[in-house]
Amino acid sequence: MKARFLLAPAVLFLTSAALAQRDFANVEIQTLPVAKNIYMLEGAGGNIGVSIGTDGNLMVDDQFAPLAAKIDAALQKLNPGKLRFLLNTHHHGDHTGGNAVFGAKEATIIAQSNVRRRLAGDANSKKEALPVITFDHSASVHFNGEEIKLLHHGPGHTDGDSIIHFTGANVVHMGDQFFNGGFPFIDLNSGGSVAGYIKTVATVLEKIPPDAKIIPGHGKLATVEDLKAFHAMLVETSGLVKKSLADGKSLDEIKTAGLPEKWKSFGTGFINTDRWIETLCNDAKKTEP
Ligand SMILES: [Zn+2]
Repeated sequence: MKARFLLAPAVLFLTSAALAQRDFANVEIQTLPVAKNIYMLEGAGGNIGVSIGTDGNLMVDDQFAPLAAKIDAALQKLNPGKLRFLLNTHHHGDHTGGNAVFGAKEATIIAQSNVRRRLAGDANSKKEALPVITFDHSASVHFNGEEIKLLHHGPGHTDGDSIIHFTGANVVHMGDQFFNGGFPFIDLNSGGSVAGYIKTVATVLEKIPPDAKIIPGHGKLATVEDLKAFHAMLVETSGLVKKSLADGKSLDEIKTAGLPEKWKSFGTGFINTDRWIETLCNDAKKTEP
């Protein structure tokens, strides 16, 4: 778990040349049943959601291109047949790295419009990696006996995030709008927003049934209680940093003071406490009138 958290930040800032040299040989894909016909796959990068059934397979996110064959094998083991749809929760490479492989092979890729815009703006993106169907606010895929809703709530982790709700199975894939048990990475350079991020989490909490299963972008399969704890952390830590800034404290002073002990474990993985404080301060500077 920790190793997986630690892999991600490095990956986000690696060039594709460095990525190509990264060794994925030892990564194994773990398959976890979530609810009904929905599964979660873990390997390296963002967690994958899968719907299997008589209509075929649908996948949410696809980690890295060098893992595509292993991911494909895990899918075939669950349900031999065609991967009909691939949904991207956002554009980051640890969630869309396999797009070129699955897009070229058979899958129709669906994502929010800004995902396509950002992928298309990257000179390294192949045409096959780009979403074929895009939407601004919401879309639904009627598949394997249920409505699978994609909802964009505005700027959050990036400017192109979708929350994906398997309405029949009562499962929600949050993408990187949820780091279970950790401080989140919020990509301010890709249109992300701390206020928007928190608002999206609050909106999801208002809407989903209390017994829903939640697939986070990173971290273990979660419950609504886990998402509530994450939301409480976001509200409290962002409030504290905002108050310190209003009191005239500098970034260094805020970092030295740190955050309350109860959030310490959130800083042991992907984003440490200092980096989370930096994100909150940078965001505050950006949104200052
Ligand atoms: Zn991300």
